[in-house]
Amino acid sequence: MGRIFLLYNIGMSQNSKPTKPTQPQMPTTGHAAESSNFLRQIIDNDLTGGTYNHRTNQAGESIPAIITRFPPEPNGYLHIGHAKSICLNFGLAKDYGILPGGARCNMRLDDTNPVKEDVEYAESILDAVHWLGFSWKENGKEHLYHASDYFDHLYEFAEILIKNSKAYVDSQTADQIHENRGNFNHPGKNSLFRNREPEENLRLFREMRAGKFKDGEHVLRLKIDMEHPNIVMRDPVVYRIRHAEHHRTGNKWCIYPLYDFTHCISDALENISHSICTLEFENNRPLYDWVLNALKEAGVFKDPLPHQYEFARLNLTHTITSKRKLLQLVEENHVDGWDDPRMPTIVGIRRRGYTPESIRLFCERIGVSKADSWIDMSTLEQALRDDLEATAPRATAVLNPIKLVIENYGADTVESCSAPRHPHHPEWGNREFNFTRELWIESSDFMPAPVKGFFRLYPPIGEEAGGRVRLRHGFVIECTGVEFGTNGNVVQVNARYFPDSKSGTPGSNTYKVKGNIHWVSAMDAFPAEVRLYDHLFNDPHPDSGNKNFLDTINPASKKTITAYLEPCMEQAKSEERFQFERHGYFVADRIESKPGKPVFNRAVGLKDSWK
Ligand code: ATP
Ligand code: MG
Repeated sequence: MGRIFLLYNIGMSQNSKPTKPTQPQMPTTGHAAESSNFLRQIIDNDLTGGTYNHRTNQAGESIPAIITRFPPEPNGYLHIGHAKSICLNFGLAKDYGILPGGARCNMRLDDTNPVKEDVEYAESILDAVHWLGFSWKENGKEHLYHASDYFDHLYEFAEILIKNSKAYVDSQTADQIHENRGNFNHPGKNSLFRNREPEENLRLFREMRAGKFKDGEHVLRLKIDMEHPNIVMRDPVVYRIRHAEHHRTGNKWCIYPLYDFTHCISDALENISHSICTLEFENNRPLYDWVLNALKEAGVFKDPLPHQYEFARLNLTHTITSKRKLLQLVEENHVDGWDDPRMPTIVGIRRRGYTPESIRLFCERIGVSKADSWIDMSTLEQALRDDLEATAPRATAVLNPIKLVIENYGADTVESCSAPRHPHHPEWGNREFNFTRELWIESSDFMPAPVKGFFRLYPPIGEEAGGRVRLRHGFVIECTGVEFGTNGNVVQVNARYFPDSKSGTPGSNTYKVKGNIHWVSAMDAFPAEVRLYDHLFNDPHPDSGNKNFLDTINPASKKTITAYLEPCMEQAKSEERFQFERHGYFVADRIESKPGKPVFNRAVGLKDSWK
């Protein structure tokens, strides 16, 4: 039987998966050490030493020297932490792909747990990887795999291990198994069923598969060592009974393999060379090697076997990267869904206005290390600014409007003004907008009683003239007065303009002003819904320690306003990004924008307002 598999190196919330470490308690915010990265050094050494060079698959076709994989479980939406793993695995394949020997990254859906997985999640995962700019195509062939495609192999390999006395059916209860596993201070105890003969194990395992037993009645365990100092090695459970329909295999199976068994075998079947995962799997590496070596001895696999390497997961401040807790945010309506622009999911940050380039830039900047640390949210935000500064067209938006009336300008007069779409891209041309008697300006650009150092608009004080500013891309004006409403609020600011001061006309720069403010014409401004987002959590480390992350939700993380935009914004297309001058970077929401009626999300401000 084993011989059949000789050349098989082809091209859950599982209980046995390690729990993630609690996040580091002493936050070291900022950049992780940037390095060429230890994984590249390992790969370089393997290439030089020829470890994986000149390999062939079971069909005799040559395959790349370097094959990585990205193996999410389709039990939720991917988040920014996954983006780090995607950029790492697909990034290595991209970079090494141009070298002799080649490289690729397989996309694998690790779908062995029928209970929590769903096609909706699977589809969103594939979308997210594509959107980030990566592909699992190599030489025209798609390398998209599902762990569930290996159920037949996994089952047959389990039988091989049973026949070789390396696995047994245990009939203890889950509690007994747990109790007899021991702990750090106490060795485990052998199960009474540990010495069952291979024939009996085989019969029971086949009956498990045939559906003869209820969930939990038996499990299949590897026969390693109940006294092993590494608890992971104390006869790990590799198969359990679960009468549940699987989203791909339907009701074909009622036993499902666990992570530690599935993962290494999937890697070997796909000829993965470097199996890169997060640090919490470090203790599982000896088990990874144990399973593959046992199957190598049985003639199933051959050298070179894949190897597991671990790197530090991404912890980002002011957010959470636990799928379970993200699910809770969605299910309990703390956010407006998986793609809420405040969510750290890929669909969320995409909707927020992040670009794939900015996320790849972020991942490059934070680097890959072997020590857990915190990355400050401002590092992610800065990557977006650095990308959009060069690529986003400029536009004007008045977010918090008050009316400005130019008293010496005719009510029916209209004058066209223009501004470059981008200061460094004259080839993008100009945008045109009108100057009129009534304008909208930002309320914060006016103070009825100016504080020291306020150089924008304020009314005349005694003999002293009112504040004088340039209306960007328009005229210089001087404040002549203010009108208050019944409750003392400013309802209108009055000013006069200087007809010979129009931006770009000869002599206009003889007017010296200290303030420069933006505006839109009240006659043709375009009112639009704008959402101003802030951190979802006030606490930089919402789920570290014994905190309840829900207690630190920022109640002001979303503010919806109606802003006045310059007229051409009416044509903004879904997902088009702009810099609203003086405010930050905004995107036309990809879900709620309609033609002629865009809705905007603030992706990030111009400066880090949290510092
Ligand atoms: P779960 O919470 O369901 O256990 P997970 O967050 O570990 O899942 P997976 O779908 O198993 O998600 O992850 C796919 C890959 O992404 C794994 O290789 C995992 O190590 C990696 N990954 C997950 N979270 C992070 C993170 N915060 N930083 C870096 N890599 C991550
Ligand atoms: Mg996981």
